[in-house]
Amino acid sequence: MQAAVVTVGDELLAGDTVNTNATWLCTELTARGVSVERVTTVPDRVADIARVVNEYHAEYDAVVVTGGLGPTHDDVTMEAVAAAFGRSLERSEDAAEWLAANSGYSAADLVEGTTDLPAGSQMLPNEEGVAPGAVIGTVYVLPGVPDEMKTMFGQIADEFAGEQTHVRFVRTSEPESSLIGRFTSLQEAFDVTVGSYPGDHVRVKLAGADEATVEAAAAWLEARVEGIEEAETG
Ligand code: ATP
Ligand code: MG
Repeated sequence: MQAAVVTVGDELLAGDTVNTNATWLCTELTARGVSVERVTTVPDRVADIARVVNEYHAEYDAVVVTGGLGPTHDDVTMEAVAAAFGRSLERSEDAAEWLAANSGYSAADLVEGTTDLPAGSQMLPNEEGVAPGAVIGTVYVLPGVPDEMKTMFGQIADEFAGEQTHVRFVRTSEPESSLIGRFTSLQEAFDVTVGSYPGDHVRVKLAGADEATVEAAAAWLEARVEGIEEAETG
């Protein structure tokens, strides 16, 4: 299963807010075996949001959108998602009923537009806040407030399933550039993907669908690189 994550908000692009939602969603989706293919941040602008949602909906099995819910003037995500599907916004009776029963807000208490969702979408209740989320096709629209987003993701988490990936890290004191030949041999010998992350030392990430293959690949590499402990103890 391939997914895309779209985070909406001018404050993310201005650097005022750290985009923790993107990282959190990538971690959760990856842990469920979903391959996250895109993370895109867009401003609070209908045309920009609608365009990426439309494109990613066509391209990937699922799209998770966060931020810009609610009825204030700069919250336009629902309108944009509706536009991406060529639909209008409609007052959701389900959302109004859920809020009346669970939050004590009657329809009259709510700011105009709070329960407006894309026509034909399914409402996702906001157990931590007010603005409801929505599911339309394979597009999941969640709030921007991290606690609200996480709780709402819990309601849809079961929809995300893929092949479980096994991961092993091998650390080495050798410079990344000297490892290229061994990475090539490793990939020829084992059905694994190889990622290399430089830092204080190089962390090599080996991932694959078959646990025994990943373990064998790690053992192969460990036998052929200078390890960290070895280098530290001289
Ligand atoms: P609400 O459900 O309360 O109406 P919302 O969906 O409208 O929320 P926003 O108005 O976009 O969400 O953002 C609400 C708060 O959440 C802001 O403080 C914002 O900075 C923060 N936030 C939004 N997006 C993210 C993100 N991707 N990562 C971390 N924090 C975020
Ligand atoms: Mg916002």
